[in-house]
Amino acid sequence: MVNTDTVEKADRSPVTVADFGSQALICQAVGEAFLEDAIVAEEDSQALKENPQLMQRVTGYVSSFAEGTVSTQTVCDWIDRGNGKVGERFWTLDPIDGTKGFLRRDQYAIALALIINGEVKLGVLGCPNLPQKLDTPRAQRGCLFVAEKDKGTRMLSLDKKFSEQIQISLTTNRFAESVESSHSDLDAHAQIAQQVGIIEPPIRMDSQVKYGVLARGEASVYIRLPNPATPDYRECIWDHAAGLIVVEEAGGMVTDVDGRALGFSQGRRMTVNRGILATNGELHLQLLECIRR
Ligand code: AMP
Ligand code: MG
Repeated sequence: MVNTDTVEKADRSPVTVADFGSQALICQAVGEAFLEDAIVAEEDSQALKENPQLMQRVTGYVSSFAEGTVSTQTVCDWIDRGNGKVGERFWTLDPIDGTKGFLRRDQYAIALALIINGEVKLGVLGCPNLPQKLDTPRAQRGCLFVAEKDKGTRMLSLDKKFSEQIQISLTTNRFAESVESSHSDLDAHAQIAQQVGIIEPPIRMDSQVKYGVLARGEASVYIRLPNPATPDYRECIWDHAAGLIVVEEAGGMVTDVDGRALGFSQGRRMTVNRGILATNGELHLQLLECIRR
């Protein structure tokens, strides 16, 4: 179910009833299953408390999925279960990654990952609007990517009737990038693609679905060079943790654009990294070299 009512966050990015609702429900479930674990999630209840009308809508939405009616205070408590600290062991959640795609009724993802001692151990990407095959437009939509350290990556249909182990492809020659021109450097991507002989047009998609598309072999590269207008932007951990393990466990490689491992222990943002480079592994060094030049 989608609910695209929006408010404007301080940074003007659109936030939806579904962002808060998704965070409340997932934090409640993870919090109940793992009482001791911290959860580091994107939203907090402050914006909701300042907007009683929105609060009412979110409460109604959450109640429709919970057993019985839930009070507004409980909804805020569930959302703020996501105010945990980055530590030795924690979960990180993006309740709706790619809010802009969600609002366009295009691609978005619900991303959850477990991090222990800075290493991603488990990742789940829910992609409700992603066709099970990109080149088959009438393919059923809705994919769940699940990856566990050393156990591979699986793709399931949302009803879980279909499930298969997925692998990156060494024959595909296509790159994926963000739809939002301000989130990376699309001109530089095009130059780099040309230099490494990728001639197909890029796959432009919002959110971490790009990692899923790479993991199942429909792209060979997902590139995210920092936008020259925001050189100091640092990526958020919940925007990449689940995607990273989905790609690595499918046989691919993920670093930043300088070839550094992604740092999930510094805090909510990856302060030691710039941008993202995810590949099928084979193209990784060549692309890093290209980026360096
Ligand atoms: P995507 O759809 O791949 O562009 O990813 C969406 C994410 O981009 C959002 O969740 C934001 O956290 C993130 N984002 C926002 N501003 C920037 C920026 N200037 N550079 C890179 N990423 C950004
Ligand atoms: Mg996000």
